[in-house]
Amino acid sequence: MERLLKRLDERLSIHSVFYEDNQIEVNARLSSVGASCPRCACYSSRRHGTYIRTWMDIPEGETAVSVRLSMPKWFCDNDACGQKVFAERLDWLPVYQRRSARLDAQIRSLAFSLSALETEKICSAFGIRISHDAVLRLVYHTEVDTGISPFCRDR
Ligand SMILES: [Zn+2]
Repeated sequence: MERLLKRLDERLSIHSVFYEDNQIEVNARLSSVGASCPRCACYSSRRHGTYIRTWMDIPEGETAVSVRLSMPKWFCDNDACGQKVFAERLDWLPVYQRRSARLDAQIRSLAFSLSALETEKICSAFGIRISHDAVLRLVYHTEVDTGISPFCRDR
């Protein structure tokens, strides 16, 4: 499990893992010595506290993985910045998302191969709660290269 999370970010460490019938709940921590303010980009290492983000990651086998991540919050020491406290931005866990970017990528690839309803059913079989409307939103927000047709023979 730790190796799976370390692929996301080397700074992740697992504190405890609970196995339930159809879900694995992981309590993890992001160890960081500082971060850049998302508003002014000034680096800060003055810690404010921590907060918990709960999100779903790719399933392990047929079992859903839910992660409770303790993340540090930082003070922004730039007086000209309106942001006084901020949390680090993570590429693999977009802001306000409750699924990791790699889980969204898997759901997206299912959705492009199947229908939104079938994707919802398969996700449900793996303990991932996502509605077909949410699957459609993922598809609509996917950037697709429309300049090259997959049916073009001249490439
Ligand atoms: Zn700032």
